[in-house]
Amino acid sequence: MNNPATNASNTGLVPCPFFIDGGWVHPQLAGTPVHNPSTGQVIAQCPAGGASEVSAAIESAASAFPNWSETPAVERVRVLFKFKALLEEHFEELIRLNTLEHGKTLGESRGDVKRGIEMIEFACGVPSLLMGESLENLARGIDCDTVRQPLGVCVGITPFNFPAMVPLWMYPVALACGNTFVLKPSEKVPLTANRIVELLRQAGLPKGVLNIVHGGRECVDALLTHPKVKAISFVGSTPVARHIFEVGTKHGKRVQSNGGAKNYIFIMPDADVENSTRGLIEAAYGCAGERCMAGSTAVIIGEARKTILPSILDAARAIKVGPTDREAQPDMGPVITRQHRDRVVQLIETGAKEGAKISVDGRGARSSDAPGGFFLGATILDDVQSGMTVASEEIFGPVLNIMRFADLEAALEVANRSPYGNGASIFTRSGKAAREFKHRVQAGMVGINIGVPASMAWFPFNGWGESFFGDLHMQGKEGVQFFTRQKVTMTRWFNYGEGDIWQR
Ligand code: NAD
Repeated sequence: MNNPATNASNTGLVPCPFFIDGGWVHPQLAGTPVHNPSTGQVIAQCPAGGASEVSAAIESAASAFPNWSETPAVERVRVLFKFKALLEEHFEELIRLNTLEHGKTLGESRGDVKRGIEMIEFACGVPSLLMGESLENLARGIDCDTVRQPLGVCVGITPFNFPAMVPLWMYPVALACGNTFVLKPSEKVPLTANRIVELLRQAGLPKGVLNIVHGGRECVDALLTHPKVKAISFVGSTPVARHIFEVGTKHGKRVQSNGGAKNYIFIMPDADVENSTRGLIEAAYGCAGERCMAGSTAVIIGEARKTILPSILDAARAIKVGPTDREAQPDMGPVITRQHRDRVVQLIETGAKEGAKISVDGRGARSSDAPGGFFLGATILDDVQSGMTVASEEIFGPVLNIMRFADLEAALEVANRSPYGNGASIFTRSGKAAREFKHRVQAGMVGINIGVPASMAWFPFNGWGESFFGDLHMQGKEGVQFFTRQKVTMTRWFNYGEGDIWQR
């Protein structure tokens, strides 16, 4: 790896500089340790930026805005075309860095980076979406048209679970629309974000158009309240998402804020055993369950408890967990930190105390190759009842709840009481059941025989309820609307006495 963003220093740690005004700034600040979750080793220190770093980044973005916003949209996206080519050229290096700091398997990192590249592909088409509307003769001799203009300095604050994709949900579209940007990645996974931005610099992005600050709450609070910030995109847990929305909007900013989730996967008695087992297992344990679209609750309906549940239990027991930072890959990697593993174990134990049955127990998972890794095996809590802590709290780990219901009606009644509303899926052969589910389920992203109905770049990432605070979602046309504001112009020309122009 040869680049100023992540070159190993003589401490053996990967440096984690800020990116301000077109240059990498190596701070002397105390930081948060970044771990390789596969071994538990510290690989970097993420600096805790505060008001002065935030102010430098925002001032740089504000100075870059006049030039960048006046650069024609078709020229702006030429930088993104080059950026996409560079990401593809460095794809293998990026997925390894992503896996090193996050712990997901190389296959999962491949998906993380690919989904991010698709956002750039979408952003390259933004000039077409910036086009306005017009109507001649709205009144006699008066024409009316709309144009979309950028907002100014926009901010992105991102979570640990998709180090590549989530930042790319935000700034490619913001920049294509003519805004400048300050990114604050998760302090648990800052290295992939830095490396990707170094590639954007190499693609020719003018200085100041994008800046990176690192840190935690103090850094975020300085971003939320800065008078030069016009819009904030946030992705993270629900309590923080709500806080960001409340403080940001109170300070007059436009905010889109994605929160946590608890997603239900309905298994009807007529579902195909093999396909529904594979879809559910992938949804529950992919990325070790650390996904906002994880299928964390299997809703087993009627006779599915006899036909399909046994196959789900067998498949969960067969999952091999292990280190991901080497060529031989396990089925599932570690969770992000030791503290997070302890929290998930505690939730499993709370579930058992409240009456759930631990049918598959991953608490003892270890790797002799990597004794310090943050491993937790696939776990199933059966007989979960609504009212239990594990039924309502987002676990965000490799734990699948099983809830049993007599029929679709009873299951919908309980699932629709959830305060969240990110995703919900059904596995069935019945068009009628699927149609009923799609129409009535209270979630913004619905899967029919698809376990993870996470929409892709061209469609909104469409959380409902406490999974989203705001009006305009990330991705798709809503993303473009979020990063622009419309101007409506009414035009009338008087006759200034030139006579009839056709006769001169
Ligand atoms: P988190 O809320 O702990 O952190 C997210 C970001 O907020 C980080 O950059 C962090 O530094 C910052 N932050 C944390 N606490 C803060 C505070 N008190 N004040 C201000 N800023 C704060 O989330 P996480 O653990 O990094 O990520 C996991 C969560 O993200 C899960 O709940 C998951 O469901 C959610 N998520 C949601 C989506 C979605 O699109 N709905 C996508 C991915 C992840």
